[in-house]
Amino acid sequence: MATNEFDGLVAAVTGGASGIGLATAQELARRGASVVVLDRDLSGSDGYVCDVTDNASVRAAVEAIEQRYGRLDVLVNNAGIGAQGTVEDLDEAEWRRVFDVNVTGIARVSAAAIPLLRKTAAASEDGVAIVNMCSIAATAGLPQRALYSASKGAVLALTLAMAADHIREGIRVNCVNPGTVDTPWVGRLLDAATDPAAERRALEARQPTGRLVSAQEVAAAICYLASPWSGATTGTSLAVDGGMQGLRLRPD
Ligand code: NAD
Repeated sequence: MATNEFDGLVAAVTGGASGIGLATAQELARRGASVVVLDRDLSGSDGYVCDVTDNASVRAAVEAIEQRYGRLDVLVNNAGIGAQGTVEDLDEAEWRRVFDVNVTGIARVSAAAIPLLRKTAAASEDGVAIVNMCSIAATAGLPQRALYSASKGAVLALTLAMAADHIREGIRVNCVNPGTVDTPWVGRLLDAATDPAAERRALEARQPTGRLVSAQEVAAAICYLASPWSGATTGTSLAVDGGMQGLRLRPD
């Protein structure tokens, strides 16, 4: 599909050097955007080294975008890290670290970028968009994911609050809730399993479609929420989860 709905627009993608973020940066660019990748590890991607837990590096990256482009139309808050275990495995330092990246990271980058987003929205007919990376873990009750699920539940609530606070300024805020997506992150999880092939089959079986979601499928959903096509949509979450959230299938 050839579209160019992001022609002349500028988009920033945190965690844009790998997995879903990389697929999103590529898709936004293919549809015409000037894309700035913000990642703590650029892994050969073009962009700015930026750790979303470090206010100074976040502010420097946003300033660099303002100086280079003078505008920001799309912010994709995708950077995130995982964690496994139940609440009994509570490690307070790990809880602080995961919340610092997954939740406060979104707040930090958004706080730094909103003045530029607001200025861009004021001069644009279509307004601007923020898309936050949530997860099916926010709503599904997944086993062995207590900390990760809590952090993504907070992302969902933060998305709604941000949408309410900025709607009058022409800034829409939505999130995507993927199921299990075939990215380097999931590859690392599988590599660490005692039987990676069996673990992969278990992850596939958990989704009614019987397969993992592709990074490109999540990128396409993010592009929809970032584009004027979703101009009437704010304060929502879009599931890209192979039917996990909505379907209740009987066992075969
Ligand atoms: P990934 O590990 O392939 O990529 C994550 C990227 O984020 C990496 O480039 C990493 O360097 C960057 N990053 C991590 N911490 C950072 C920080 N502090 N500052 C800046 N950049 C940082 O992971 P992925 O699977 O593409 O996941 C991306 C997002 O999607 C995460 O928020 C994750 O929670 C979410 N998600 C993933 C899945 C999945 O199954 N893969 C499912 C639902 C949601």
